Amino acid sequence: MKIACVGGGPAGLYFAISAKLRDVGHRITVLERDPPGAGYGWGVVYWDDLLDVLYRNDPESAREVSARSVLWQDQQIQVRSRRGGGTAFFGGYGYSVSRAALLDVLTRRASELGVELDYGRRILDPCELAEADLVVAADGAGSRIRTVGREHFGTHVAAGRNSYLWLGTDQPLTHFAFCFEQTPAGWIWFHAYPSTKTVSTCIVECPPETWHGLGLDRLDDEEGVRLLEGIFRRALDGHRLISRSRGRPARWQTFPHVTNQCWYHGRTVLVGDAAHTTHFTLGSGTRLAMIDAVVLAHSLTEYVELDEALHEYDRHRRAELHPVQAAARSSMAWFEHPDRYLARDPVSFAYAMSVRRGNQTPWRYQLHLATQAAAVRSVRRAYDSGRRWYRARRRGETL
Ligand SMILES: Cc1cc2nc3c(=O)[nH]c(=O)nc-3n(C[C@H](O)[C@H](O)[C@H](O)COP(=O)(O)OP(=O)(O)OC[C@H]3O[C@@H](n4cnc5c(N)ncnc54)[C@H](O)[C@@H]3O)c2cc1C
Repeated sequence: MKIACVGGGPAGLYFAISAKLRDVGHRITVLERDPPGAGYGWGVVYWDDLLDVLYRNDPESAREVSARSVLWQDQQIQVRSRRGGGTAFFGGYGYSVSRAALLDVLTRRASELGVELDYGRRILDPCELAEADLVVAADGAGSRIRTVGREHFGTHVAAGRNSYLWLGTDQPLTHFAFCFEQTPAGWIWFHAYPSTKTVSTCIVECPPETWHGLGLDRLDDEEGVRLLEGIFRRALDGHRLISRSRGRPARWQTFPHVTNQCWYHGRTVLVGDAAHTTHFTLGSGTRLAMIDAVVLAHSLTEYVELDEALHEYDRHRRAELHPVQAAARSSMAWFEHPDRYLARDPVSFAYAMSVRRGNQTPWRYQLHLATQAAAVRSVRRAYDSGRRWYRARRRGETL
């Protein structure tokens, strides 16, 4: 089959890899608007469940992704209000990988498998790809391919209320960090985690009142970043914020919550952010994009008729995404009004944050209280190392 894949992000590249692995006869071209090595963003977090999927699907690239990832353990929530401040903790662990490293691994693997990579190609309409039997729209949240067929897909895009800026910092972290600072213009906070051993990701977020009140809407990139460094100077411990990833300064944005009633039309199919977005506070968009890619590639081998394959992919994956998108929406809404909880003490505030998706269980509060003790966190870390070791062995990782 001749397949044109629009967009060389995680969804597009991983679909190309997964489809080629299943049928070497496919002629697949990934068309990417940017030059090689360009692109946006810093690190993305993920958990063992993604590594399980990647190892089952393609151990070769999974090993590389794993090797270029870093482990983070525990989460620290700092709150600094005018009345004082404090810190609370969550346990747990996860991994993170810089987006650049992830794309580098996937690009090399796709090319090795014989996928054609066509850079500097901005595709605005599937009609430009008349020769393709299948057009995979992997062109992200603002997908042009989806926009052309929006009535067929039943697209709905709702912009989040908050502004966010995706930055890096030279502060090396080994844990996930949140810091909420009260300024004269209102609350502003960051979500930070390691991207590599020396550089971390730092996403700054605030409601529109704070954004306008601090003048962040008017300052240029450099001035804005210096202002943020001043606001977060204690949490950053004198480290710098970095705006430019791969040459381009980060831009303030609002998060688009994208849903579609149907993920295919004719020979065009949506994957990744083009099909669905999940707010970054869930840390799942990349994982979901890569799983879409595997499910679509699998469906193409399971069904002889293209229409049937796309129908099954749509049915299966859209049903799976429904609760995840609902949780992401709740999480986004919670972060739009954290001031409702910020008058509480930091431990109660952190608890409200941990159950923002409605995932409350009877023992959860007691566990949260216990987690505030350093000794309990240390026992949990030891237990988690055992679990990590077991899962890594089970998926065939060399330890
Ligand atoms: C601040 C922030 C933090 C995040 N953190 C996490 C995290 O911790 N964990 C996680 O799992 N996810 C995270 N995500 C989500 C994740 O970045 C996305 O879900 C993921 O990148 C989706 O992959 P994709 O391939 O569908 O789209 P994208 O990664 O957006 O890739 C789309 C590609 O298509 C190209 N393109 C666009 N238009 C065209 C066109 N017309 N023609 C040709 N090419 C085109 C683009 O240049 C791009 O390379 C975060 C997102 C944000 C905004």
